[in-house]
Amino acid sequence: MKIAIYPGSFDPMTYGHLDIIERSSKMVDKLYVSVLINSAKNPLFSIDERVSMIKEMTSHLDNVEVTAFDGLLVDYAKKMNASIIVRGLRAVTDFEYELQIAQTNRIVNPKVDTIFLTTSLEYSYLSSTIVKEVASYAGDISKFVPKKIADAVYTKLNIKR
Ligand code: ADP
Repeated sequence: MKIAIYPGSFDPMTYGHLDIIERSSKMVDKLYVSVLINSAKNPLFSIDERVSMIKEMTSHLDNVEVTAFDGLLVDYAKKMNASIIVRGLRAVTDFEYELQIAQTNRIVNPKVDTIFLTTSLEYSYLSSTIVKEVASYAGDISKFVPKKIADAVYTKLNIKR
């Protein structure tokens, strides 16, 4: 059984993330979308909020399960019996960071491999940070996230539209 983990902050989840989830879930038997509990960052949404948003957006995918984790990703992969880590690559700027993490993870646990999916062109500019930035100026984020998430972002940022 091929088990993969797609880790990230997902603060909030965007259509770019969903695209990676839909495509990678077809390649494996089971895909865990796992929200990193990282106290160092200053997130807009709590872990529970992010988990439930992702659950809702992925409810049409039978082999996808949403979880949260902290600690080392490779340790979590081992715990979940996952041999594959999925990451998305948008631009060259993602590459250096992703390569460093993937190589480090392989040294720590050679049984786990990272696979990269290139972003679909229409989402190549899209990031959670951009979504929050546009929303903070009361901009339209309806092309980036579903309506429910968009409303939640505006509410969190205290933006009236
Ligand atoms: P992190 O904090 O780990 O970078 P993110 O939630 O920002 O978490 O992203 C999780 C993963 O999804 C990363 O591999 C990132 O490159 C990828 N990703 C984010 N946005 C997109 C997008 N628009 N298209 C493809 N992949 C994306």
